[in-house]
Amino acid sequence: MISLTKKRIALISVHGDPAVEIGKEEAGGQNVYVRQVGEALAKQGWQVDMFTRSSDRQQARIVQHSRNCRTIRLVAGPQEFIPRDEVYGYLPIFVCEFQKFQLESGFQYPLVHTNYWLSAWVGMELKKSQPCQQVHTYHSLAAVKYKSVSTIPMIAKTRLQVEKTLLETADRVVATSPQEREHMRCLVSSKGKIDIIPCGTDIKQFGSIGRSAARRQLGIAPETKVVLYVGRFDRRKGIETLVRAVSLSALPKADLKLIIGGGWREGESDGKERDRIGSIVEELGLSDITSFPGSLSRDILPAYYAAADVCVVPSHYEPFGLVAIESMACRTPVVASDVGGLKYTVVPRETGLLASPKNEVVFAGAIDRLLIDSVWRQQLGQAGRQRVQSYFSWDGVASQLNQLYTQLLEQSAVELDPVSA
Ligand code: UDP
Repeated sequence: MISLTKKRIALISVHGDPAVEIGKEEAGGQNVYVRQVGEALAKQGWQVDMFTRSSDRQQARIVQHSRNCRTIRLVAGPQEFIPRDEVYGYLPIFVCEFQKFQLESGFQYPLVHTNYWLSAWVGMELKKSQPCQQVHTYHSLAAVKYKSVSTIPMIAKTRLQVEKTLLETADRVVATSPQEREHMRCLVSSKGKIDIIPCGTDIKQFGSIGRSAARRQLGIAPETKVVLYVGRFDRRKGIETLVRAVSLSALPKADLKLIIGGGWREGESDGKERDRIGSIVEELGLSDITSFPGSLSRDILPAYYAAADVCVVPSHYEPFGLVAIESMACRTPVVASDVGGLKYTVVPRETGLLASPKNEVVFAGAIDRLLIDSVWRQQLGQAGRQRVQSYFSWDGVASQLNQLYTQLLEQSAVELDPVSA
């Protein structure tokens, strides 16, 4: 009985619903991370409940993913999409709803793993009213992010403060790369306990299809040179740099194909970025060789990666960057910005190339270097697959988290019950 309670965990992801289709508005790496970690932990014997804010009244309140893993949607604020910078005001209701859920269920979570600063606040509030250990993953750090954007939102001051307090008080913070830990130490606080546990990928699904079969499936000719982007339409993703780099390519344009994969919603911030990118594509005369297939489901994504000759991750800032490891798992080399977690996942000249962010000339050179040398591309692709298998499988990541949680729970049991110790 006791051990069951001990193995219970709440993964809290207020704005990133782990049960939604990925690739839609604001759904990206965090949703994938929470869902995959949740499912992998459940396989390792944890009772996993993933809490998020309901953003659509049509959606089920509870989604059961597997026997020990479910998503629970709490009603906190209007049940409609709210941009993440506007969610803060609804967090007190979220906390109340979480506590109500515990009361109705007849148990309390001894461990919460919070994701992004909004959930960090929720976790810190919960700790005021119940004994529980808080583990946190930032997914994005305000102190880094605000250095690379031109307009700073109103919420910035609050967010910076929450992120600092969190680092100093959480039972453990998970940095997903050594670079992220460095940023926390230099830009957030010198206090607090940090472990490095990377993000992962599904190495069975990503890598399940070869290049020729993938191209047949997608109707792409064997000789076409395919440059791929996958991700959200957000300025910090640097899609403009990629488009400008492709226009600078020395290769004949007729041989090239640029695929920009990812969903958007008309009138929302990502729809506006999609329109802006579309205008640049037209302006540079790349419309004939560029396609926007929209949101790519997890079933079709491995084919896109495998069909591509190079996958480009041109972010201005990237705490980890799941797309880079997904591409490497599919044996496609990556050209990525020399920033954040990408410096950790992509090994230059071994699994891809790194280029200065926002520098289309350097990106163009790197993309061309890979496109003209198919033998080298294959070598880089194989090495990328190896690297992901060794360091970035979800099962491996979940084992490391499992160890961390177990250690924290054992420690807290001793602290709560010094007599039995
Ligand atoms: N993604 C997807 N379909 C799309 C676009 C993106 O499944 O159409 C997924 C992508 O495969 C990756 C995640 O969204 O798993 C993006 O994560 P990443 O860490 O690269 O970026 P973030 O969204 O966290 O900024």
